[in-house]
Amino acid sequence: MKFTDLGLLPELLRAVEDAGYTEPTPIQVQAIPVVLAGQDVMGGAQTGTGKTAGFVLPMLQRLARHASSSPSPARHPVRALILTPTRELAMQVADSVVTYGKHLPLRSVCVYGGVDIKPQTAELREGREIVVATPGRLLDHVQQKSVNFNQVEIVILDEADRMLDMGFIPDIRRILAMLPKERQSLLFSATFSEEIKKLADTMLKSPQLIEVARRNTVSETITHRVHLVAADKKRYLLLHLLLQSPDMQVLVFVGTKFGTARLATWLERQGVNAVAIHGDKSQQQRTEALEAFKTGTARVMVATDVAARGLDIDDLPHVINYELPHVAEDYIHRIGRTGRAGKSGDATSLVAPEEAPRLTDIEKLIKLKVEKVEVSGYESLATTEPERRGRGHSHHERERHGPKASVQLPPPVAHVPSVAADGFDFLKPYEPAGADLPGATKAATLPPKQPLRPVAALLGGLGKK
Ligand code: AMP
Repeated sequence: MKFTDLGLLPELLRAVEDAGYTEPTPIQVQAIPVVLAGQDVMGGAQTGTGKTAGFVLPMLQRLARHASSSPSPARHPVRALILTPTRELAMQVADSVVTYGKHLPLRSVCVYGGVDIKPQTAELREGREIVVATPGRLLDHVQQKSVNFNQVEIVILDEADRMLDMGFIPDIRRILAMLPKERQSLLFSATFSEEIKKLADTMLKSPQLIEVARRNTVSETITHRVHLVAADKKRYLLLHLLLQSPDMQVLVFVGTKFGTARLATWLERQGVNAVAIHGDKSQQQRTEALEAFKTGTARVMVATDVAARGLDIDDLPHVINYELPHVAEDYIHRIGRTGRAGKSGDATSLVAPEEAPRLTDIEKLIKLKVEKVEVSGYESLATTEPERRGRGHSHHERERHGPKASVQLPPPVAHVPSVAADGFDFLKPYEPAGADLPGATKAATLPPKQPLRPVAALLGGLGKK
């Protein structure tokens, strides 16, 4: 399937091409024709699936007939309303509107709280066809009468489940009540609780159900494991884990762009082929990194959450969270790449004591108490620090060897049965491929430069998708 097969306007196809997308994602393939046809949509999709373009592109097309270069505010009434739970998401979606709409004279604005309302008011008064907003601030504008919904044709609710978690549903209902009854409505949510279904019932008319992500939070074939470790020992533990399974490719998540680059460089210095992708990398660099990972030239890909979104990685057996995400849902997005189609997957998190609250949030979200496994020599409370032990060596050597203490990974983890409230068993027994792999003595040796597993197979084939 190509973008050109979806019935999009040349202006939109050009924008898609400019963005460097070659093929539509599954949610785009499903959603674009339905939205273009004017139907309501109930979309089950998480961030990272390309859902934003899935609704923004056809929305722009439906508004294109109103596009006008007239400066008169009267020619630019609000036609589309996109509601998001957070300012970050609002900004992200608004960016997409600008990106995909750059060849159409439609105007958009992003309104969210926590900043001066006046510039937003001024923009709204100039006339904007597309308003991307967080609910609270939008209601402030309603109260100020800086926005009018009489001409709204399309309303889109993004991440409805997060709206619910954040207590925005009453605000949403108030906003919906102000919109014209004759309109198109789209609701996107990663999960469908009873409340979300109720909201959908009131908001949508004969919606088309489109689902590309799993409804349940995590795959049952993923083994979750936490290693409690001091922050300054994480990289050594990561290296140790990599050495344990020398033929395993791993996607490693790091919280910051800087941390990503630094970790990849450090791994390279230890002899582990690693590539980094983060927001500051050009599209070209990202493509090259991904290609190196897919062909197996790079064994490790270190990524930030944002950079990893939309990556063409289908199925990967092992994800390591070098740092836990601040937003619990991102844990699900991260590990969503493993354990697909019933295959076994492994999600390992290196958790420093200061990350404990994040772990609690994640466990609550995935309804699972993740087993904590301390690795000898890397415990979070261990008093000996790798750097100190290396005194007398050059800085480089110290980094290279890491802790000299005997390092033993525990045997394969015996799982506590973890059955969710709905009877869903998240954990299945798992036999790590490297159960009899090197222990302490090999921990400080460099990984052999041997051919990796055929990753094209692991990743769903090269150049596909
Ligand atoms: P979303 O799920 O909407 O947050 O999108 C996740 C990421 O995927 C964004 O960074 C988009 O730029 C990117 N993306 C969206 N559609 C495509 C596509 N067809 N091909 C490649 N990347 C895409």
